[in-house]
Amino acid sequence: MSDTSTFNISASSISTWDFEADVVVAGYGIAGATAAIEAARAGAEVLVLERSGGWGGAASMAGGFIYLGGGTPLQQALGFEDTVENMKDFMKAALGPGTDDAKIDAYCEGSVEHYNWLVDAGVVFKESFWGQPGWEPPYDDGLMYSGGENAAPFSASIPPAPRGHVPQMSGKKTGEQGGGYMLMKPLVETAQALGVRAEYDLRVQALVIDEAGRVVGIGAKRYGEDVYVKARRGVVLAMGSFAYNEEMVRANAPRILGRPAASIEAHDGRAIQMGQSIGAATAHMDATEVAFFCDPQLLVRGILVNGRGQRYITEDTYPGRIGQATLFHQENQSFLVIDEQSFEEGSASETSSPELLMQPTWVAESAAELEAEMGLPAGSLQATIEQYNRFAVQGTDPLLGKNPKWVKPLQGALAAIDLRRRTGGFTLGGLKTDTDSRVLHVSGEPIPGLFAAGRCTSGVCAGGYASGTSLGDGSFFGRRAGISAAQEASVHNGLAAAQGASA
Ligand SMILES: Cc1cc2nc3c(=O)[nH]c(=O)nc-3n(C[C@H](O)[C@H](O)[C@H](O)COP(=O)(O)OP(=O)(O)OC[C@H]3O[C@@H](n4cnc5c(N)ncnc54)[C@H](O)[C@@H]3O)c2cc1C
Repeated sequence: MSDTSTFNISASSISTWDFEADVVVAGYGIAGATAAIEAARAGAEVLVLERSGGWGGAASMAGGFIYLGGGTPLQQALGFEDTVENMKDFMKAALGPGTDDAKIDAYCEGSVEHYNWLVDAGVVFKESFWGQPGWEPPYDDGLMYSGGENAAPFSASIPPAPRGHVPQMSGKKTGEQGGGYMLMKPLVETAQALGVRAEYDLRVQALVIDEAGRVVGIGAKRYGEDVYVKARRGVVLAMGSFAYNEEMVRANAPRILGRPAASIEAHDGRAIQMGQSIGAATAHMDATEVAFFCDPQLLVRGILVNGRGQRYITEDTYPGRIGQATLFHQENQSFLVIDEQSFEEGSASETSSPELLMQPTWVAESAAELEAEMGLPAGSLQATIEQYNRFAVQGTDPLLGKNPKWVKPLQGALAAIDLRRRTGGFTLGGLKTDTDSRVLHVSGEPIPGLFAAGRCTSGVCAGGYASGTSLGDGSFFGRRAGISAAQEASVHNGLAAAQGASA
């Protein structure tokens, strides 16, 4: 028998298979659940292998944004116009550089159908819009801006539409119970009703390869024992990102080293390594989502300055964009400068993240005094505030284009909140797949029998991020992975005959 601690093993070394199915899915989060449903609907017998004791993954802990648009029934019901072309333009502009345009095109063209598919599977979206700044809606509203579509620089050239669709749930608490759970629950119930089986507490370790280089199964560990699972048609990898693999993060995306967020420890990069071990290509391994740990209700009401006291991003944009700008381009140095009245207004606002309504680190009667207390270069913050206020009295922000709604001169007593190093995130790069979720070899050819979706792949985000794109592309391309795997020609007879293996 082969040792499953390696990343791939030869089928010829396996004499007994512990389980088998037409399609074997590794990981029961969003990509795995959607792959399982579609594979089962395509007539395949499906087995999901999950490392933990139950289904859900990061997806069930998520806020639940699913990035959808192009005129979904929810957008229409709430009076928002959106088109497939506008959605494509935004995603290509905001999620790059280097987006996989074929993927984005397919995703946008299929977005309304995908919304309807989710609804048919039992996911409920409440017809109400949350229009205030925030990471998520604090209540059970179904729609929100989640990528900076309505802020500079995008709003000037691409007609904005909210695309963050959130499954309904009351009493949400990010990371504990949220829209992500309300997405996963009906999907898993749908899979179960279709006869999808699952094996839990089983840690996938290796791909099983036949002599022709086709993936024909999985090697796993369960309570220290080796387990072999035969896939008659295909294997779908859906095991999440590499955010918790320190070595891989150090090598590929070192800026988020030591600051994993919005991911789970099971995201250890194993699926990517398994694919790489048989020649799979990867893409955008340096790309990361970056959360910025301050409440947007405060951010929009102040100005963000870097370590030189200069503004660097419009404060009313998607906070994940602020996180990326801060970590990637400002050496993770950021301060929110806000006046007393705006601070009190922001602190009293409704929010999904009250823990991020931070208290001031410094307070002062003047910009000069505040600048000195913060240790900023002499004159830097004073010049920034003077320039900002000069135009703010007219309600404009020529430097960065903040929406006039949030532009107000900073007056009276001032405060600054220390936001240095308040970022964290997860990796976006992974196995390179085509629009049918086939894993591509470095040669560019699909690897026979191997499919993947979710954060173990490089999806619609190549560099930038919008909330909802993970559950969005995980579910969209998860479905395609399931369909493609189910359509793969069966190797059952050949394998069994070649090895005399018992099923
Ligand atoms: C608090 C929080 C909020 C978030 N909010 C949002 C949001 O609003 N919108 C959004 O789009 N994204 C959000 N995300 C991110 C999103 O949840 C993930 O990126 C997404 O779930 C990735 O999908 P996936 O299928 O690749 O991984 P997952 O959903 O995590 O599923 C992977 C599964 O594989 C299993 N697994 C891993 N390794 C193995 C192995 N070796 N063997 C067997 N099984 C294995 C895991 O246990 C897990 O169940 C959030 C995440 C968190 C934690």
